[in-house]
Amino acid sequence: MPESSKSLDKAKQPGLSRRDGPEVAASPPSLDEHPIRRLQRAVGNRAVQRLLCPEPGCFESSRRGPENYYLTGGHGGAGVEGAGTIQQEIRPRISEDPEDPSQAYVPSITMTGRVLVSRSYTGLLPGKQGYDRIGRRWFITPEAAARIEQHEQMHVDEARRIHDATILPMEQRIESSVGHFRSGLEDYIAWDETLGRFREQDLARNGWGGSFDEEERADPDTPQPNPRNVTLDGVEYQMYLKMPWEEAP
Ligand SMILES: [Zn+2]
Repeated sequence: MPESSKSLDKAKQPGLSRRDGPEVAASPPSLDEHPIRRLQRAVGNRAVQRLLCPEPGCFESSRRGPENYYLTGGHGGAGVEGAGTIQQEIRPRISEDPEDPSQAYVPSITMTGRVLVSRSYTGLLPGKQGYDRIGRRWFITPEAAARIEQHEQMHVDEARRIHDATILPMEQRIESSVGHFRSGLEDYIAWDETLGRFREQDLARNGWGGSFDEEERADPDTPQPNPRNVTLDGVEYQMYLKMPWEEAP
C-alpha cells in the first residue's frame, strides 16, 4: 500500500484529529474539496439539497392521495406537476483550455449536468364524490376509479419515456465529456435545446388537449358518465360514472 493512502486511512479513523500529530494533519483532503461542497459553491445550497442525483436519469414518480371528491373540492385523478415542467436543473460547468478556447471540457465528475423530473398524481376513492358545477352529486364505481387511476399512471409513464429519450442521453453525453477536451462541447451537449425538446414533447403528449388524452378519449374502454338519479345507502346521486361494460343500478 502506498504511503499516501495509508495516511488517508488513518485520517478516517474515528477519534483522530489534527492535534494527534503531524502525519494526520498533513494528509486529510480538505473538506472544501468534497464534491458536495464544490457543488454547493457552484450552484447554491438550495439546489443541492433538492437534487441529490448521483447518476444520470433522475426521474421520480409518486402517488398522492387517495383523494375523494373527484370533481369539486378535491383533486382526485389529476397530475400534480404540470406537463412540460422540470423540477430541478444543474447546468454542467464547462471549462476552456486557456491555450485554445475552442477546446472545452467538463471538469467535475458528479452532480453537475443533472436534471430532475418529478411526476406525481392524486388518485381517487371510489364511491361518493362531491358535487359538480351544476350541482349534481357523482358516484364512481371501483372499476371506473381504478381506470382513472391507471390513466394518471400512464401519464407518468409517458413523461418518463420522453425523459429517457431526451434528457437521459444528454446526461450521458455530459458524463462522457468529463475531462476530455473537445471543440464544440456546448453544441454537443445541447443543454437548452434538449431541455426545450423535453418540455415541448411532454406538453404535447401529457398537457391539456395533448395526444395522450385524445387517444384515451377515443378508447371505448374508459369510464362513461351516466346522468341518472340513483339512491345508494341513502345518498342521492345525479351522475353515475362506470365502465361501459358495467350495469348501472
Ligand atoms: Zn389525462
